[in-house]
Parts: sequence; structure tokens; C-alpha cells
Amino acid sequence: MNVPFLDLKTQYKSIKDEIHTAINEVMENTAFAGGPFVAKFEQEFAKFCNCKHAVGVGNGTDALWLSLIALGVGRDAEVITVPNTFIATAEAISLAGATPVFVDIDEKTNNMNPSLLEAAITKKTKAIIPVHLFGQSADMDPIMAIAQKHGLYVIEDACQAHGSEYKGKKSGAIGHTGCFSFYPGKNLGAYGEGGAVVTNDDALAANMRMFRDHGQAKKYYHGIIGWNARLDGIQGAILNVKLKYLQGWNDARRKHAKDYAAGLSAVKEFIVPQEAAYAKHIYHIYAIRVKDRDKLMAYLTEKGIACGIHYPVPIHLQEAYSFLKKDKGSFPVAEKCAEQYLSLPMFAELSDEQVSYVVEQIKEYYA
Ligand SMILES: *Cc1c(COP(=O)(O)O)cnc(C)c1O
Repeated sequence: MNVPFLDLKTQYKSIKDEIHTAINEVMENTAFAGGPFVAKFEQEFAKFCNCKHAVGVGNGTDALWLSLIALGVGRDAEVITVPNTFIATAEAISLAGATPVFVDIDEKTNNMNPSLLEAAITKKTKAIIPVHLFGQSADMDPIMAIAQKHGLYVIEDACQAHGSEYKGKKSGAIGHTGCFSFYPGKNLGAYGEGGAVVTNDDALAANMRMFRDHGQAKKYYHGIIGWNARLDGIQGAILNVKLKYLQGWNDARRKHAKDYAAGLSAVKEFIVPQEAAYAKHIYHIYAIRVKDRDKLMAYLTEKGIACGIHYPVPIHLQEAYSFLKKDKGSFPVAEKCAEQYLSLPMFAELSDEQVSYVVEQIKEYYA
């Protein structure tokens, strides 16, 4: 049996007619860059997140970068985040002119360890970017409390957390802004690139709307120096169709996660992901932790099961960030996890047979 890591085609086929109708409508209206289909999606996505505003942008990296710029976090600032994330979190900080400062993670949740946060704050710290890695929220209450105490902004990197919850609140809706990516493989994926920032702050939303469109509120009258970071109309229309299905797709992922955990509970050699008491995990990535990760991965590949590693090298050990001079050993928990993470196939359309097959093959490997 073949089990792909991700299968975008099966999902596309299940909504093909609706998608084609939506794309045709954009074509007929020639509403390609920004426009009414983006505006409609922004309204629906804001509602979904229980937030006042959603601002569609080019991708998730834009969402993070625009958040920093709109909050005035730039040159000479330090921004605290985690080392076990996709590079975009750190890139956005760097290209805003600021410096990323890392705090280690809690290995139970794979997310920022709030008890280490305060020690990382300096006079230069302006913002914190918790990452809701793999689709589970970071522990937001202590993070927000520390931010408030020190007068810091909180930007949620919710690029893997569409519909994920923290104590009943949607991820992205708790900090000053929440950043989403609609990269095709995300739980809510466009058929191209896309992203959004959600916020309850009217002025911030207005500023980001201007910035993403060359700083103009009115065509050719530029109030601020901005950029082109617009979401395109076709993606807006596609996302609006797909948003209706997101909850169901997330529920399907949660069921697969439950089946994986039940099936693998007898295997003592590794750790399956745990859902924190405060969280509703949406399993963008189902990452187990194994000591002999590479061997198990090779075995599963041979059996037709495609796995991934998210992420093999923590940010502080990437060549691009060698100037930070954070050597191996600086963030021991994140480093240990990076050596042990193995992401199993996870997408809504996985069949029960495929999940069972993965479980059986892993059991056989250890037998
Ligand atoms: C995907 C992702 C991003 C970047 O999103 P893009 O749309 O690819 O620019 C940022 N942070 C995290 C944690 C992500 O997973």
C-alpha cells in the first residue's frame, strides 16, 4: 500500500465543481488583484477566527512581516520567538530590521516554554512571536501576562493553526495580531500562495491594508511607504470555498490522530503528540519523537509510507543565523526534538486503511 505524506488531489476532486465555479466568477469579473473576492474571504475568515478584521496578504511570511512593521517593531528591536519553527518566523523579524532572540520549548507541547520567557527580555525587546507549532496553540495566558507586564506586543504565528483553539478561543485571535499562511499544504490551503493577518485593532488593520497596497488608501495617493503584498482574487475565491470545509477537515485530522495514538500506544520506543488540556490541536503535522528516527523513516519509505521531518535543523543552527553565535547546546530541548521528530502522513482524506497500515508497519518494525 502507498501512503503519501499529503494528498492534495483527493481533496481537490471532492470540491472540483465548486472551485471551478468560483474561479470562473473571478475571471468573468476580472477581479484579479485584491478586489471583492478577497474582501468577501476576509469577512468570512475574520468571522471564523472571531476577530474584527482579517487582512489578506501574499503569504504567511508577509503576514508576519506586515505585523511587525505595522506595530513599529524594527531597527534595534529584539523579538522573542522559538528556535523550532519554519525559517519564515525568523526571516520576518530580520527583514523588519530586528533581531530574533530565542527561548527554548516545552517538549510536552513542542511550543514556547513560558517559564523561560522573562529571562530573555531585555531593554530592546519589543515583541514576542509564539508559534503554534504543528497545529497546537502555545500556552497563551502566561505569554500574554508577561507581555503585558513588560509592555510587549504579541504576534501569533498561526501559520499551522487554522481553527486551532486555546481555552475555547481561536488561535490568532489572542495576540495583537495573528498570522496565517494559505500555502497549499496548510490545513486551509490556497491553489497558489496566500496569507492573512487577523486583529481586533481597527487602526492596525487599516495600516496593514494600506501597507499591502503600496501605502495607498486611494489610488495613486500614497500616505505611507508600503509594499505590494496583496492576496490575489482567484486565491480569495478559492479560499472562500474551502473555508466552509475547514472545520470538517480538521475534525478528520483529529480522528486520524486519535487512531494513530490508540494504535501506537503499545510501542514504547517513541512519544506520540499530546494534546494539552488547554488546547484543541488541529494536527497540521503529526510528529512523533523517536530515537532512531532516520532508520525508522527509511524502513517506512521502503514500505510505501512517506514521512517528513519538521524541522531537521533549529533556526539558531542554520547557516543563515550563524551570526547570532548560538552554538549547539544553546537550546537543548529544541535541539533534542529536532533530532527525534518524525512526521507521519496526515491529511483529512487519509483512509482508515491507510492509518492502520502505517500503525501495523511501525509495530512490525519494532517487533
Ligand atoms: C508556513 C509557515 C510560515 C510561512 O508561510 P508562507 O505562506 O509559506 O510564507 C510561517 N511560519 C510557520 C510556522 C509556517 O509553518
